[in-house]
Amino acid sequence: MDYKDLANLIFPNTKEIKYYEEKYPKRDLKEGAIVTRFAPSPTGFVHIGGIYQTLIAQKLTKQTEGVFFLRIEDTDQKREIEKAVDGIIDSLNDFDLTPDEGMISGEEQKGNYGPYKQSLRKEIYQAYAKYLIEQGKAYPCFCTQEELDEMRRKQENAKIRPGYYGVWAKCRHLTVEEMIEKIKAGENYIIRFKSPGREDKKIKHKDVIKGNVEFPEHDQDIVIIKADGLPTYHFAHVVDDHLMRTTHVIRGDEWLSSVPLHLQLFYELGFKAPKYAHIAPIMKNDNGNKRKLSKRKDKEAAVSYYSEIGIPEKAVKEYLLNIANSNFENWRRANPDKDMNEFELQLNKMSVSGALFDIVKLLDVGKIVISKMTAEEVYKKALDWANEYDKELVNILSDKEYSLKVLGIERGNKKPRKDIAKWSDVKESIEYMYDDIFYNKNQNYEYQVINDKEDIKKILNLYIEKYYNENDDKQTWFDKIKELAGEMGYAKEVKEFKANPDKYKAHVGDVSTVLRVALTARTNTPDMYEIMQILGKEKIEKRFKKSIERM
Ligand code: GLU
Repeated sequence: MDYKDLANLIFPNTKEIKYYEEKYPKRDLKEGAIVTRFAPSPTGFVHIGGIYQTLIAQKLTKQTEGVFFLRIEDTDQKREIEKAVDGIIDSLNDFDLTPDEGMISGEEQKGNYGPYKQSLRKEIYQAYAKYLIEQGKAYPCFCTQEELDEMRRKQENAKIRPGYYGVWAKCRHLTVEEMIEKIKAGENYIIRFKSPGREDKKIKHKDVIKGNVEFPEHDQDIVIIKADGLPTYHFAHVVDDHLMRTTHVIRGDEWLSSVPLHLQLFYELGFKAPKYAHIAPIMKNDNGNKRKLSKRKDKEAAVSYYSEIGIPEKAVKEYLLNIANSNFENWRRANPDKDMNEFELQLNKMSVSGALFDIVKLLDVGKIVISKMTAEEVYKKALDWANEYDKELVNILSDKEYSLKVLGIERGNKKPRKDIAKWSDVKESIEYMYDDIFYNKNQNYEYQVINDKEDIKKILNLYIEKYYNENDDKQTWFDKIKELAGEMGYAKEVKEFKANPDKYKAHVGDVSTVLRVALTARTNTPDMYEIMQILGKEKIEKRFKKSIERM
């Protein structure tokens, strides 16, 4: 009896690997094209790090006319959550990171290199496990959990490196006959890889991001097929990325230390290994300590957080590019109006330790991204967000025509307004333009420098009676405020005031502030000329009256 008999006994019905090698031929792509993937486990939680990885992966494939695919790694069926795959796909679609190939919904997939869900690939893994068994490179292991625990205890007591290797790998030393006998007797088993490595030897490897790394050779006889017939991550990774013709494995750097094992598996299976690029995680500053963004501790680790607060996906992506390549910031400065897709991402410029996540910076990017949108776009996106998260805002936006005017204030010009970082800012930034909200709020009028009540009254009355005209252009409108200031004994120019501070009580800017506060109950608003144009004389007058009443 030999290994072939053993292999046939364990996997009597699998196809020969030749079948799969032919079914999934080398991809016909141009030289240098990158084929890579996002390979999440469907745990129900989409981590922002996953979007980060996907963004990088997808960008590289686009830059090289390669292929980006989505593979679902669901071999740990205990952890599987219903609808989790849909959740992942929805997130990728939201971020405009739809894969070229792979799963496109919980059940459907597209592409010629599938199935793209590992639980559907059982017989493929088994065919390759059989192939290893036939060559004596893998074997059934009959050790029970109790035996393994006992072994570990002995190793700990003797202060020996733990694991299933060398002399400790009990079942590796069984003869083929003994193995066959145990299987025939109905003993339970799993399949282990027979590692040819030696711990006292070193392996050198060049990671695309981390550079040269050196590890001891791998020598553990790891499990490749579990009791449920499904593979472990390591085995599935090697078989899948070989058959899916992945050129670059771009993944979290928690896997860097598994490279010796993975290279060994590729080698023993007779496959060419892909390039590895291990991405440092996004970090967070936690009271001076730099640590990984944590799913449990940090709300910003969840992709859902960004949709809840309403940061445009585009801003999140742009910010992630900032984190990925530090030269992005300079590129953006030099090319403020270019689409971010034109930026050339380089793996070898990725940070080796993790970059810090900075919410303030992200919000700044949000402000810039939103400032470039048209009023129509802002309206649509804010309304979409509001429909999900803020019914009051839906109400406010119900008069579309009026809202477009409001959202259009200081937009579409050279220096657009930058006060909205996220959709949850919209209500606060526009609500004073809506009478029913404005009058229902207990407004606090703080007139700042000019605080003489009689003066304020006079400014407001004079302005509306004598100076305001809806048909004035902006220059005339402002000249009139100057005239009003002059008539009231205030400096018509700020310069003038600064030169002779004793001569005047205040200046034209302070007069403007009085108008602004009476109009909006705020000291800070976008362009007042545009605000007045939208409100119109009648509303302006009513607001002035109200503010006088409230004095
Ligand atoms: N399923 C693995 C994970 O979520 C994938 C790692 C890889 O990209 O190979 O960490």
